[in-house]
Amino acid sequence: MMEYVDVDEKLAVDKFYVDEDNAHIVLRELGPGDMMQFHTLELACPAGLYECLPDGTVRFDYAGCLECGTCRILCGTTILEKWEFPRGTFGVEYRYG
Ligand code: SF4
Repeated sequence: MMEYVDVDEKLAVDKFYVDEDNAHIVLRELGPGDMMQFHTLELACPAGLYECLPDGTVRFDYAGCLECGTCRILCGTTILEKWEFPRGTFGVEYRYG
């Protein structure tokens, strides 16, 4: 019998120490030609941090970042202005619950 993993449940046990003074990922100002890249991140980010709203605006919040680097690999030189690991004691703390 196949066992399924509830990803949202697993992510919910992680703890995030958010550096409010220093965003470790920053999006560039997006133009219409950048939306394909943004949609790529919408699909690829395992934490679902990139979101295109029904009115066409975009939303991104680095606070729940898993530091996987997927967005950096896919779009690091196109729509990301900055990608670095969080400073010192900030960032995700993985827990296995
Ligand atoms: S590093 Fe991973 S979790 Fe963080 S924003 Fe990029 S794709 Fe999402």
